[in-house]
Amino acid sequence: MPLVTSKEVLKAAQAGGYAVGAFNANNLEYVQAIIEAAEEENAPVILQASQGAIKYAGLEQIVAMVRNAAEAATVPVVLHLDHGTDYEQNVRCLRAGFTSLMFDGSALPFEENVRITSKIVEMAHACGIPVEAELGKVPQAGDVSFEELKALMTDPEEAKRFVELTGVDSLAVSVGSIHRMKVQEAKLDIDRIKKIKELTGIPLVLHGASGVTDEGYRAGIPAGICKINIATELNKAFTRGIREVLEKNPNEVDPRKPLGRGRDLTKEVVKAKMRLFGCSGKAGDTLGRGAAYTGKAEKLTEKELARE
Ligand SMILES: [Zn+2]
Repeated sequence: MPLVTSKEVLKAAQAGGYAVGAFNANNLEYVQAIIEAAEEENAPVILQASQGAIKYAGLEQIVAMVRNAAEAATVPVVLHLDHGTDYEQNVRCLRAGFTSLMFDGSALPFEENVRITSKIVEMAHACGIPVEAELGKVPQAGDVSFEELKALMTDPEEAKRFVELTGVDSLAVSVGSIHRMKVQEAKLDIDRIKKIKELTGIPLVLHGASGVTDEGYRAGIPAGICKINIATELNKAFTRGIREVLEKNPNEVDPRKPLGRGRDLTKEVVKAKMRLFGCSGKAGDTLGRGAAYTGKAEKLTEKELARE
C-alpha cells in the first residue's frame, strides 16, 4: 500500500494505548529487515532516515527503496525524517516523498525553536504532512552524568506553550533517555511523561530508546509515549551478523552472506521491539482510519513549497 503519514499511525497508537516503533534504516538490508518484520508481526511501522543515513545512502535513494517496499507491503509504512536540521532540509524531504518530518531545534533558544518549527509546520500541513519537534535535550552517551541529565529534561509547562505556539503534531521529549547508549540502564521520569501528555495532549516520542529497560517501556507507553526510536540496537545486531559470518569463514567473498545474516538478526530485534511496544497485530488500526497518503506533496513545485 502507499506510504501513510505518522499522524495516522500515531493517532491510532494513542487511542489504542501502544507505541509504534521508529526504526533507523541505513541501507537496503535494513529496509528489508524492518518491513519484513512489520509484515510478520502485522504491525504499523515507521522507517526513519537520520542525517548520517541521508549522507550515506542519498535522499532520493532512501525514498525510492522505502516507497517500493511499502507499496508491496500489506501493513502501513511511514517514511520519517529523523533530526531534520533546518527548514530547507524539511522542504527537500517533503518534496522527495517523506510522509513525516522532524525539526530538531532543541539546541536553540525557546523562541528560535518555536519560530522555525512553526514555519515548517505551516509548510508541511499545507500538504497534509505531520511534523515532530523536540524540546528539552536528549544528550549523547558519555556527554552527561545522570544528575546533569535531569537539568536537560523537558519542562511540562514549556512543552504546553511550545505545542500551542507551533501546532506541531508530535513532540520528542527528554525524560531520561540518552542517545547511542549501548547498555540498557536509562531511567525514565514517568511522572514527567504523564504531566507533558496531560498538558499537550499530543503523541510523545522517545529518542535514545536503545538504553531504556523493558520495564521503562512498559511504564512509559501508558504514560503517553506513542513513538519509540530505535537505532543503536539495530546497528549492533546488523554488525554482529556480519562479524559472525566473516569470523566463521574469513575467506568468504560473497557479500550477501554477511549482509544477509546482518539482515536476519536485525529483523529479529525489530520483531521483539514491536511485541514489547504493543504494536504487533495493530496494522488494521491505521488501515481502518483516515485516507492513505496521496502523494500530493510530490507534485508541488519548489517555489510553492518554499513560500513562507
Ligand atoms: Zn534522536
